This record gives sequence, C-alpha cells and structure tokens, in this order.
Amino acid sequence: MTDTPETQGPPPPTVDPAGLTEIASGVWVIDDRRVPLVPNIGIVAGEDAVLVVDTGMGPANGATVLEAARKLAGERRLILTLTHFHPEHGYGAQAFKGEAEIFYNAAQRDELAEKGEAYLGMFKTFGPSVAEALEGTDLVMPDKVYDGSSAEIDLGGRTVVFRTWGLAHTKADQIVWLPQERILFTGDLAEERIFPIFPWFPPDDADLDAARWVEVLSDLEVLDPAIVVPGHGDIGGPEILKAVRTYMIDLAARVANERKAGKDADAIVAELGPVIRAEHPDWDAPEWIDFAIRYYSTIS
Ligand SMILES: [Zn+2]
Repeated sequence: MTDTPETQGPPPPTVDPAGLTEIASGVWVIDDRRVPLVPNIGIVAGEDAVLVVDTGMGPANGATVLEAARKLAGERRLILTLTHFHPEHGYGAQAFKGEAEIFYNAAQRDELAEKGEAYLGMFKTFGPSVAEALEGTDLVMPDKVYDGSSAEIDLGGRTVVFRTWGLAHTKADQIVWLPQERILFTGDLAEERIFPIFPWFPPDDADLDAARWVEVLSDLEVLDPAIVVPGHGDIGGPEILKAVRTYMIDLAARVANERKAGKDADAIVAELGPVIRAEHPDWDAPEWIDFAIRYYSTIS
C-alpha cells in the first residue's frame, strides 16, 4: 500500500545523522530537514572539548546525537547545552547523562523542573510518532548551571558564549554564540520561513514576552552574525533574525489596531489569520499564527 498525502501523517520527529554538515572548521550542524519537531542541532569542537547544542526529542534521538558527537570528539570530553526546555530541543538529554557535562542556565533548569512533565504529557498527544519518540523519556537536570545572563566557556582554542535575556519565547531562552567565527545558534528565538512559535497556552503556560523577544532579536542583529542557525528551518544569515522581528512588530501593531476597533480575539483570528497566512505563502507551520494573534489580543 502506498501512502498518499491524505493518509500520511507528519513524518516522524527523527534526527537524521546523515544530515551532519560542517558549516565552518570544527562546527557542524545536523539539520532538521524541515521536519516538524526536529531541531537544528549543533556540534562545536575545540581542542579539549566538544559542545553539543540541543538533542532532539526522546531517548533514541538523544542517543543518535550522542553517537554523532562522540565520533567527532574522539577522546575529547563532551559538553551538552540546550537552547531552552521545550521537548524537541532537550528531551533527549538523558542519553548524555554521565557521558557529557550538561550545562545551561539556572532559570532554564527551573522552568524544566516546573513544566517538564506537563509538556511531556502534552507532546504525547501530538500523534503516534511523537508519542513513540517520547516513549521512555526521563527528564534529566543539568550537571552545572550559571546564574545571571551569560557564561563563557573555552573548548580549547575556541570560545563559546551562552547568553539569555530571560522571558521571551520561554522563561530562559539561551543563544549559543561563537564570537570568533560569528556563528549564532538561536534556538526558537528564530525560525527560518516558519511562523514564529508562540507557545501561548494560558492558563497552563503563559510565560511569553514578545516585546522582549523583539528586543532580543535586535540585540542578536547587533552581534552581526555571519551564520545564523535557527531553531528550525534552513541555515542563513542575519536576514533570518530580521524576518522574525519584522513579522512580530507588524503583527503586534495590526492586532492592536483591531483591538482599538473593538474586536475580540476570535474575530481578529478569523479576519487576520488568513491574511497573514497569504502574505507568507512559503512559510511553514501556519498553526502558530492564531496563537500569536491571541497573545497580542490579550496584551493589547
Ligand atoms: Zn521552543
């Protein structure tokens, strides 16, 4: 039996190590192939240590990423960091426990402790292939955290900066910045040709600050990255950051205008949703448009 587009669900959220590509000397990405719930994963090598950025979702994906990193690292020690606590980015971390030093910020750890199990339950309702990927997931805590907004690590001849601005897409999104190579890993602060992911699920999760998020994107543009590795979507340059920022500023203003005209969130979703969709015919994941409109309706 052949699958038709009608009977096919989304492809399973499987990290494919065949996508491993060296984007700069000693810096690799396992790309997401634009598969939903697969993130872009980074592997950054120094002389002494090799850093992994995000794991994919569930123990099997985590093991795949660990194996890819181990092959590249040889005898060098491994460090794992996560861009944020969302399942498709960090719920493969258990494969790294005891194999790598898991290191990220304290607020991200706290958010994982607070919401991790609830997100695990929610994602398991996203269909059989997602539930299967998450089967056997254990949430693991970092080995080490930093307080405050940034940390710098030396991989041996290569400096890496971790930085958070606090509440934006989540409570503690963390970018990974390679200042010498000007390579930026954004996590879900930026997607490429994908509608920005507004995890606006009140009352369960209303920890989102889009105004701060826009400020973060401005700050990231000031860094003047040569290469931007978005959380999801194709690798590019600073135009990725600008596209997300422009979209958010524009949508906020349009929703605020509709609110001033007395319309409620449902009416704005019905009216504006299809218009926004049509303005970005080549962007994926249109389901996030309505979440964004509802968020802006609530705050404006
Ligand atoms: Zn996310």
